Amino acid sequence: MPFLQLKQLAIYCTAALGAALSTMAIAQGTTPMVLSSVKPLAMLQADMGLGYQEPIIPDGVTPHDFSLRASHMKRLEAADLVIWLGPEVEPFLAKVMARKTEHEQIILPAYAEAMALQEAAHEDHGHDEHHHAEHEEHEEHEEHEGHNHTDLHPWTSPKYMLQAITKVHEALQARHWSLTSSQVTQIETLSQKLDRQLHAFQDEWQAQPPAYLIYHDALGPFEKDMGIAAMGSLADGAGAQSGAKTLVALRQLVSDKQVNCLLVDAEANMALVNKLAGSELAKVDVDILAWQQELGSNNLLTYFDALQTSLRQCQ
Ligand SMILES: [Zn+2]
Repeated sequence: MPFLQLKQLAIYCTAALGAALSTMAIAQGTTPMVLSSVKPLAMLQADMGLGYQEPIIPDGVTPHDFSLRASHMKRLEAADLVIWLGPEVEPFLAKVMARKTEHEQIILPAYAEAMALQEAAHEDHGHDEHHHAEHEEHEEHEEHEGHNHTDLHPWTSPKYMLQAITKVHEALQARHWSLTSSQVTQIETLSQKLDRQLHAFQDEWQAQPPAYLIYHDALGPFEKDMGIAAMGSLADGAGAQSGAKTLVALRQLVSDKQVNCLLVDAEANMALVNKLAGSELAKVDVDILAWQQELGSNNLLTYFDALQTSLRQCQ
């Protein structure tokens, strides 16, 4: 067994997920294998007690230029259940997933769709808490209508991941997977913890918002949840570098001291980063795909906490 797998297995056992997993057997008593496309979704499945499996897109590989190999196909074909983001966000999975049954996959909704659903649900319940933030989101959504503007990093949103947990839970129930009561409790506790964390983070930004630039414009869903926004980016959501005009404008923001830091993810073009930031602007690492994160318990809480910690350095 390769070292990495051994290490994962060890972490996984200490996280006491093993007991939960063994009770998750399907009809014939075998342990169902759940596979996710990206690491934040693999962490979601682990936090839900479905066992951790290395995601299809491994650490160090960006989904923006990912292509499927035979080894990936084999893993996808062998999986009892695949959790992914659908053909629009993950086109490289479309072909192989079309060959799996509906029962063997959970397609999480697009970010905008999920947020619209949440807004509708909130209105039904007569909630007017956070009304202001939701109103803003709605306006922004309308602006983009007709552009087919699918967000490529929905997992950065705690609200989205809360919905994803519910969606996966419901899908498991519909597939008659046997969940123990302790597993159901684990899922409920997870949602409660994430919701509490979200509100604590929102309160923090309301008191003092950060002023920052971001290399890769990939934190949009997180920013919307928090009611904050970057003042500019060096590359768009799909990873394409900004033009000269934008770079000049960003450079001006830096020399005018309008921003406190530049968030840099592992995919960044460091020559460009250094050119823009020079020695005056702080560079802060942001781990959008959780490449740096070791697996443990409460993986999603740790992931969002890391995003928040990066942004705090830009206050
Ligand atoms: Zn990206």
